[in-house]
Amino acid sequence: MDIYSRSINEKFRLSPESFSQRFALKRSRGKDQGRQMTVTKAIIILLSLIVGVTAATAQTTPTVSTTKVEGTDNVYVFRYGGHQSMFVVTSQGVIATDPISYLRPAKPYIDAIKAVTDKPIKYVIYSHHHYDHIAGGQPFKDLGATFIAHRRAKERLLELKKQNALLADVVMPDQVVGDRKTIKLGDTTLELVYVGRNHSDNSLVMRLPKEKIVFVVDFAPIESVQFRNIPDNASPLEYIESLKRLAALDWERMIPGHPYAGGRTGTKKDVADDIAYMEDLSAEVKKAADAGKCFDTAMKEVKLPKYEKWANYEASLPANVERFCYWWGRGY
Ligand SMILES: [Zn+2]
Ligand SMILES: [Zn+2]
Repeated sequence: MDIYSRSINEKFRLSPESFSQRFALKRSRGKDQGRQMTVTKAIIILLSLIVGVTAATAQTTPTVSTTKVEGTDNVYVFRYGGHQSMFVVTSQGVIATDPISYLRPAKPYIDAIKAVTDKPIKYVIYSHHHYDHIAGGQPFKDLGATFIAHRRAKERLLELKKQNALLADVVMPDQVVGDRKTIKLGDTTLELVYVGRNHSDNSLVMRLPKEKIVFVVDFAPIESVQFRNIPDNASPLEYIESLKRLAALDWERMIPGHPYAGGRTGTKKDVADDIAYMEDLSAEVKKAADAGKCFDTAMKEVKLPKYEKWANYEASLPANVERFCYWWGRGY
């Protein structure tokens, strides 16, 4: 998803104008001092130029932060622009998740891990096969990490490869998971649970049973409507079922793959709200479909005012309606 990274980038981007103005100012200052400029002054000006350029560059790169999850001493959220990943530090090594380094270096993520532990990165686990979450894993591979994904994620990546459509920067999983797999490292247990087809057909919920934390990417947004036209699932009703399976697991806090709602963790109530939203959307679109309004009229007319405060309501509701129009109006 790019919506979030875009808004964050916009917030921190220095406009080209302000950059060239700053640059021109420093240059004219240099000129004024002419030949009397001492070597020391020249160095100071040169340094300030470098600082200016570095500051401008820093403002164009995505924000990076590492946050330890409250109440734990080994679970971290790494935020890289508009994407997030969870990593867990154990006595025997680190379990990392999505590399989130699509079209950008993986180094900041690896540095973030190294800043809190000198233990080796043992695993990288993919939440699902979408490039914006899993690209950029090679530096983790070079450090010896084992890559794990859902069986279907690997199948999809192999299909993409066969069609010459696989992004070069995606590491193929070493191990695959069916419905469930438990990873034990040090004294940490991490469960990988497949809850059915939703945003992808290979999304894994990563659950820390002791900490009662889950890492869930893209299919259970917090206080936000669904992404665009709810891609990839075979049936939006199956999607709702997968949300119900997520809700039925034993957990208290949900770390999302994007910072929603001010960057907070999610709760069971957030998932219940997602389910309610999808059911309300489904019911409204079914009515519109029965009245022959799918696609265009329904996409304009269907509104769900109960959710109008949610993120991306204006931008994505029509596309969300479109997905259910396919289902209720066309049967696919
Ligand atoms: Zn995403
Ligand atoms: Zn995705």
